[in-house]
Amino acid sequence: MTVSVRPEIVGEIHLTGHPASPGLAIGPVAVLTSAMASRAAKGDPVQEAAALKAAIEAAAAQLAELIATVHGEAAEILEFQVAMLGDDALAESAYEAIATGTAADDAWRAALDVEIAGYRAANEEYFRARAADLVDIRDRVLAGLIGVDAIAKISGDSVVTGEDISPSTFLALDWSRGGAIALASGSPSSHVAMLARSRGAPMVVGLGSLPWNGEPPSLALVDGDTGTVIFDPKPETRRLFEHRMAAANAARIVADANRFKPALTADGRRIAVVLNVAAPEDLAGLDPAICDGIGLVRTEFLFEGSRGLPGEDAQYAVYRRILEWAAGRPVTIRTLDAGGDKPIAGLTIDNERNPFLGLRGIRLSLARPEVFRVQLRALCRAAMHGTLKVMLPMIAIPSELDRANAILDAEFAALTAEGIACARPPIGIMVEVPAAALCAEEFGAAFYSIGSNDLTQYTMAAARDISAVADLNDAGHPAVLALIARTVEAGRERGVEVSLCGDAAADTRLMRALLATGLTTLSVSPNAVARVKAAIAGVTA
Ligand code: PEP
Ligand code: MG
Repeated sequence: MTVSVRPEIVGEIHLTGHPASPGLAIGPVAVLTSAMASRAAKGDPVQEAAALKAAIEAAAAQLAELIATVHGEAAEILEFQVAMLGDDALAESAYEAIATGTAADDAWRAALDVEIAGYRAANEEYFRARAADLVDIRDRVLAGLIGVDAIAKISGDSVVTGEDISPSTFLALDWSRGGAIALASGSPSSHVAMLARSRGAPMVVGLGSLPWNGEPPSLALVDGDTGTVIFDPKPETRRLFEHRMAAANAARIVADANRFKPALTADGRRIAVVLNVAAPEDLAGLDPAICDGIGLVRTEFLFEGSRGLPGEDAQYAVYRRILEWAAGRPVTIRTLDAGGDKPIAGLTIDNERNPFLGLRGIRLSLARPEVFRVQLRALCRAAMHGTLKVMLPMIAIPSELDRANAILDAEFAALTAEGIACARPPIGIMVEVPAAALCAEEFGAAFYSIGSNDLTQYTMAAARDISAVADLNDAGHPAVLALIARTVEAGRERGVEVSLCGDAAADTRLMRALLATGLTTLSVSPNAVARVKAAIAGVTA
């Protein structure tokens, strides 16, 4: 990480960090306060307790304002909520957890989830019905803690700056009108960087401490290709940057026009380009003709939020929509990959000491078969509506795949016995643990899909979300490329497809090295298709 303030250009601040999402952007600066930026970053217990107290008081004040505008039953419901918020016992365990180092939002969420579970399990209907009020209270205070209201005021074309930004904050912002992110810390391999790439928001991380006290700059130029940011540019700097933006736009228009053509290397090798998505909404307005199918549906986004775990019918409806969109093209849906940097309330282990090495992905699904079975049943039913393949995350040893296959067989048989229309999809594995890459041929997988995000962090022992080790978290390192080549070779020997669905697949700087491993399928976010196809066209053997 280098920070170069160039005092010779008066008024301009040039900072250099790590490129995290490509593209150029210009916009007014919006500074995230620490409360808005990332509640995951734990402050000291006194500050965290104060933040929680303030958020509870603010929530009560908001409710009191609302009460003044409604009558009857609605007012009674809100009064009940205000009374709950005023009950010190409600937050007691949250304050206790904060005193032992837990972040305010984690502590509040955990405390309320226990209460909610208690209300839901109550014998009397009256108390069960009150569980929804507690969910409301929980989320209102959480919104206060992460500053959602303040975020809503940030205009869509802003350059959002600050220490770091959480995925929920990112998602609360409107990226449809442009905008970019420039962070003091953060990592190009984090989930939020991944979200930025999929939304096409340029992002630079690891800029180091932002060098202003008090009044922040008013305008910024963000270069997500090189990882540079210029605050308060001089008119000439801005003019040159706008010139570059216009040229980049023109190149994008040409690449976009080629999006519908099959991807071929300069020497004629056909590369399948498939999509990474999280929800049917990611496909809205997209023509399936731009791709050869869907290579990764990340289903954990379905399990997040306040509505609890999704049931079989709700999951089936989502999977079916995605398959119908693909119109017969193959669709690979990944089973739940909760844990690690993707905690899910009520499912993953709270405060796991080392969550990336803990009960995540397939390990959690096998430990919670009642949740896994629901997902597999929904998938078997959805398989009737297209060409579905099911993929297991975080596989390390063959018996995990074998156990998942046995559960799938049982659920398929049960559905068939119940007379429910279904099909049994083939199961493949993600190769994202070095042990799986090194022993790939020992798995009876129907296909392999390399998750370079995790494979890189586990190979380099450099977390995907820690900016201080971002340089080490390099998917282009020879060790990572060797594991990719090793997996491709195993796939060739076993006659099964190998794809790459980690973010390295869309890193055009790595295209030559990746295709040299023998990979023939790349899975990338919809937004990267044009760029990736153009990069493939530039590669010779
Ligand atoms: C990966 O690890 O490369 C991957 C695609 O999975 P995720 O980023 O969802 O962990
Ligand atoms: Mg992964």
